[in-house]
Amino acid sequence: MKRQFAVIGLGRFGGSVCCALIEQGMEVLAIDQDEARVNKYRDLVTHAVVADATDEQALKHLGIRNFEHVIIAIGDNIQASILTTLILDELGVEHITVKAQNDYHEKVLTKIGAERIVHPERDMGVRLAHHLLSKNVLDYLELSDKHSIIEIIASTKMSGKTLMKLDVRAKFGCNVMAIKRGREIIVSPQATQLIKEEDILIVIGADEDIKRFEHEMFDE
Ligand code: ATP
Repeated sequence: MKRQFAVIGLGRFGGSVCCALIEQGMEVLAIDQDEARVNKYRDLVTHAVVADATDEQALKHLGIRNFEHVIIAIGDNIQASILTTLILDELGVEHITVKAQNDYHEKVLTKIGAERIVHPERDMGVRLAHHLLSKNVLDYLELSDKHSIIEIIASTKMSGKTLMKLDVRAKFGCNVMAIKRGREIIVSPQATQLIKEEDILIVIGADEDIKRFEHEMFDE
């Protein structure tokens, strides 16, 4: 049986979540109070309905509690987002992900039982800033306030050396999880793995360790 998701709020974020889930072969119920937005997604998703998500009866009628995961992508109307989260929690929806508009919104959502909170604009901003600050950093993913994963292009200092020779783990406390070489991906590379020019390293570690690693390897 296909996994069932419901997406409430069909702005750019909610809409792209719907598209990605459908592409992955999931069943998607798309809900918005705006008929024009619903019509836009009608032919793409499994079901699309016009409904006000703050109306508990309407959500019950849609059988929302039977959905494995509900994504609340209402941004601007914080009050509606909070109320919808509360209703879904009370109805017993098992997994709820909510898009937060700001820190205050996030704080309230945490208190009322949202299992997962996403901040797409803020997170994308942070990722872009890391990319802009270091020409070698292609992408950045924050794991916690102290740990991250970065995708970084091998420097000339690194090419032609093995991971053992670079001593990344012992010297910097970081781990090279994978190496992208063109279309090939070397997962969990061995210590004897040779780094080539234009390799892309995926490195996990504490922020301060990653910073030291970048500093040492990329200051030409
Ligand atoms: P994005 O930044 O993702 O593009 P947006 O700024 O276009 O979003 P938002 O105000 O964040 O729009 O709302 C996203 C969608 O949520 C809108 O299509 C809006 O009609 C819908 N929405 C807002 N409140 C409710 C509600 N109570 N019930 C159902 N849908 C709602």
